[in-house]
Amino acid sequence: MAGCLFCQIVSGDIDAAVVHQGESTLAFRDINPQAPVHVLVIPREHLTNAADLTHDHAALLAEMVATAQWVATSEGVAESGYRLVMNVGADGGQTVGHLHLHVLGGRTMTWPPG
Ligand code: AMP
Repeated sequence: MAGCLFCQIVSGDIDAAVVHQGESTLAFRDINPQAPVHVLVIPREHLTNAADLTHDHAALLAEMVATAQWVATSEGVAESGYRLVMNVGADGGQTVGHLHLHVLGGRTMTWPPG
């Protein structure tokens, strides 16, 4: 989608530290990491957030989680554990309007998050 930051990362117009390229997903390091491991998994297709997901996206959502699992293994946090987060909308803390799954690990997560 024109003007969407993460669509521009998908197209290669904006650089990112890509760690995994899938057919329907892309994973890259968060530019402002909140944990030693902080990777974003996004769909290549533009969806604004989890509120856009329907049953038609079941395969895409499964692929996003599978990508997150691959990232966790690749980053060495699969055994120690990690957190998966999707922020939805303003009160959810969403700042980029393209669906993304945060993969956070490498430290003990607190609850509730700040
Ligand atoms: P959220 O607040 O859930 O919308 O998360 C958006 C995330 O995107 C934040 O953690 C930002 O640090 C991250 N971010 C913003 N711009 C970039 C970028 N150009 N490359 C990588 N991560 C980014």
